[in-house]
Amino acid sequence: MLGKILYPTDFSDVAVKAFQFVKQLRECGVEEVVILHVIDKRSIDALAIYTDRDFLRIEQEWESEVMKQIMPMEEELKGLGFKVKVRIERDVPFTDILKVEEEENVSVIVIGSHGKSNVKEMLLGSVSEKVVRKARKPVLVVKR
Ligand code: ATP
Ligand code: MN
Repeated sequence: MLGKILYPTDFSDVAVKAFQFVKQLRECGVEEVVILHVIDKRSIDALAIYTDRDFLRIEQEWESEVMKQIMPMEEELKGLGFKVKVRIERDVPFTDILKVEEEENVSVIVIGSHGKSNVKEMLLGSVSEKVVRKARKPVLVVKR
């Protein structure tokens, strides 16, 4: 029933906590994990404008940073017997998460309640809130 999981990460503490949870799901019959990071196009646009640097260069550097962080996670999951797919998308986090949900036909999304901002007063971050609202599949929210 839980065959394939979508795990979107921004590499924040709460997303890392969600990853610890994902690792335990092998025992629950999960076979495949799709690790997804969305490079927020709006942040790159802003960086390119403020630093007067080339958009493509910034995107490439960003992407290699992302891969450095994802690779050990991929290895760890493989070591536990999961099949792993890594996806990096480059637009708006919540729309890309929903797009990949459809494209990969996952059974469940495992997401952190909060991310990099982690504002104390917020019940959910804006990405996790939109995913909970709009996803078609069940969403498992790992709390901070
Ligand atoms: P906000 O972004 O609204 O200021 P926040 O950073 O505290 O708040 P979210 O961004 O909603 O919270 O993060 C919640 C979860 O959503 C994260 O733990 C992660 O699982 C996922 N997430 C957030 N941003 C991304 C991203 N760029 N790519 C993939 N997953 C993401
Ligand atoms: Mn965020």
